[in-house]
Amino acid sequence: PAEWYEKDEELVWHAMRPGSKKRSFIASKAEGAWLEDIDGNRYLDAMAGLWCVNAGYGRKEIAESVYEQLLEMPFYPLTQSHKPAIQLAEKLNEWLGGDYVIFFSNSGSEANETAFKIARQYFHQKGEAARQTFISRYRSYHGNTMATLAATGQAQRKYKYGPGLPGFVHVSPPDHYRSGMETEAQSNEKAVQDMENVMNWELGETIAGVIMEPIITGGGVLVPGDTYMKRVQDACRKNGALLISDEVICGFGRTGKPFGFQHFDVQPDIVTMAKGITSGYLPLSATAVKREIYESFQGTEAHDHFRHVNTFGGSPASCAAALANLEIMEKEKLSERSEELGRELQESLQELLSLPHVGDVRGRGLLAGIEFVETKENKQPWEEAKVAQIVARCKDKGIIIGKTADTVNGFNNIITLSPPLSLTREDFDFLVKTLKETVREVVTQ
Ligand code: PMP
Repeated sequence: PAEWYEKDEELVWHAMRPGSKKRSFIASKAEGAWLEDIDGNRYLDAMAGLWCVNAGYGRKEIAESVYEQLLEMPFYPLTQSHKPAIQLAEKLNEWLGGDYVIFFSNSGSEANETAFKIARQYFHQKGEAARQTFISRYRSYHGNTMATLAATGQAQRKYKYGPGLPGFVHVSPPDHYRSGMETEAQSNEKAVQDMENVMNWELGETIAGVIMEPIITGGGVLVPGDTYMKRVQDACRKNGALLISDEVICGFGRTGKPFGFQHFDVQPDIVTMAKGITSGYLPLSATAVKREIYESFQGTEAHDHFRHVNTFGGSPASCAAALANLEIMEKEKLSERSEELGRELQESLQELLSLPHVGDVRGRGLLAGIEFVETKENKQPWEEAKVAQIVARCKDKGIIIGKTADTVNGFNNIITLSPPLSLTREDFDFLVKTLKETVREVVTQ
């Protein structure tokens, strides 16, 4: 195996590991919630790949339906159509609980990129061509393309990819732990007011929409108060802007509902999704657009000229994977399972708050974040090396967890959990026990 590590270092350019001389984790096999590396070590994958594998690894039903579809017809583009895409669009509407027309692509970035193009063209053909600017939030991640990078509110923006795309404005998300406000309701209200001020005073009739994750995930697991997203939706409606919900991570049961927005009594105009749509078995993403937006394109120049061709988007095999995946999720009630086990997880992790350096514990469903601080009074981020030690020790004990950052403030002090929703009771107990034990060891040493 040593030679695999050498070749990897020599030949493969990995994402998000700048300056890291750490040896790669070379995964080779997976089953249920467990991964095995090329040396035969086994790990409970409490990050579900990269927040993807919601139905778990080793699902024969998904593999078989992809195999059958590949034999029947491996590829045909959605410039025309095929049955798996039609069936999936129908199924997604059931999950969304609304009336949406679906545009398929291959990645979360593309799904958001598509949303921006649809929104801008929608306003053009409505005679409101000035509406071209989007509001997004600091700490959000929306993708790696030029537009989604412009929407992203994290450190990626600082690298030398300029000139950045214009037309994106950032506001702060509600972060009650650090807001300095007494109640969560006040933190939320402050965040909404800041957004409304930007809408009213800065953008006026140039605003096209707001893109947001219902719960910020990669930017440090920030759960807003119950009314925040509804207030954002109201502000959008009042200002003639569209609400775009980025469900790339929050979707497909991660937070205990089919989609994250469903916690918050809203119905977004556009919903983007990827990752969990196939549980990571094949690349696929979707931009779900409310019917009235789609219909306003009909018979217009914009419709004829929505030249956003996507060769592989919604390929028959990817759609077959998604259909088999959603069938498993429905049969095994994985969104409900995420809600139930999630409640237990959040409750159990709250106990960590009595330990030194554990500043905040938050999450929803099987998505959790733990923020580490120097002291509970000063709330300065705890040394990054210590937080990294928790991650490394968990790995030594057989669990893979994540580490994420508030890159706006230069903090790198939050660990994250996002296990497969299908993990067994035994896996769940092992994960919670090992994580808590490891945090206790490192914070008290
Ligand atoms: N939106 C969110 C919220 C994401 O977390 C990600 C990926 N981590 C993306 C969009 C982009 O998805 P992809 O990597 O598939 O392009």
